[in-house]
Amino acid sequence: MNRMPSGKSMHSSYLCGLDIGGTKMAATVADRNGPLARVTEPTAKSGTNRAPGEQAVALLKKACNDAGVNFDEVESVGVSSCGPFVKHQDLIQMVAPNICGGIGKQGDLPNTWTSVPLEEVLREHFRTVTIENDCVAALAAERAFGNLQDIASCAYVTWSTGIGFGLCVDGRLLRGKNGNAGHAGHMLMTDQSTAQCGCGNLGDVEALVSGRNLEMRYRRSPEELFNAARDGDAEAHTIVVEATRWFGRALFNVTTTLDISKFVIGGSIWQHHGDWLEPLVIHELSSHMPALTAGVTLSSPGLNAFVADIGALYLAMPEDWPIGWRESKPWKHMPPEKPECPGGK
Ligand SMILES: [Zn+2]
Repeated sequence: MNRMPSGKSMHSSYLCGLDIGGTKMAATVADRNGPLARVTEPTAKSGTNRAPGEQAVALLKKACNDAGVNFDEVESVGVSSCGPFVKHQDLIQMVAPNICGGIGKQGDLPNTWTSVPLEEVLREHFRTVTIENDCVAALAAERAFGNLQDIASCAYVTWSTGIGFGLCVDGRLLRGKNGNAGHAGHMLMTDQSTAQCGCGNLGDVEALVSGRNLEMRYRRSPEELFNAARDGDAEAHTIVVEATRWFGRALFNVTTTLDISKFVIGGSIWQHHGDWLEPLVIHELSSHMPALTAGVTLSSPGLNAFVADIGALYLAMPEDWPIGWRESKPWKHMPPEKPECPGGK
């Protein structure tokens, strides 16, 4: 590990990364050679709406402590967070229906928050705070280090607790007016379904296919449901094939809109079941308008389960670090993630 003598005018040789999901939060500290320590906890959902931000700071302090790094010396944090975001006095707040009980429509959260002041809390501790939607951060990391290098028009998709997209067209990452480009998991697919998303929509992509919503509809955990479908349970197979068809149709809609040539698909459901679901998705995607969809490819993340952590760090990274990481691929040396229930992020 490179240790740097502390000095007030010296640029910090460390940076912090945060991956904030609806289920889990991960904090990482890194130096120019790669991640040094990583700690995770279930995302805080009780107390005041500052709780997730304060939990993030506590986890980052713990990661720094584990790595022998002085937390007060770290100036920058990159944050890969579930969205959507709103800006309040120019600071990003999270308004995620999977975290904020005051806006979630499913009544299963132990709080009444309508927003989480994430940037405000982090700015009390860091000089530079860079927050991106988690799929945009993952997309940036896959373009820098993974399976989307040199692909000008591409997307990162997660199939997990929720459904999200990060979008890149002609080499430009799309962000939108509040950093919410890519929330295509909430695009409406049908009026014929009673499946309800946490956002309140009936029949949007996330309502129809996300791990959380499948569990609420069918009272079967995503892990059990997808494993049973793979093993030939007829009822589970019907449910999973239908969900996969909707997922493939969502990829078709995004392809027709943005002329995408490659999707990297992450998230725990795809991580565990992409091998047998991929032909179904490709069939749905490519069975319409071949002029737009022929040759579109799918891939898993090159950064495997650490795409969100590396994405967060990449957001805060000095310009001269990525070249070394591209060579040494430090994510390959990170301790493996404990097995999780597919559908939990
Ligand atoms: Zn929705």
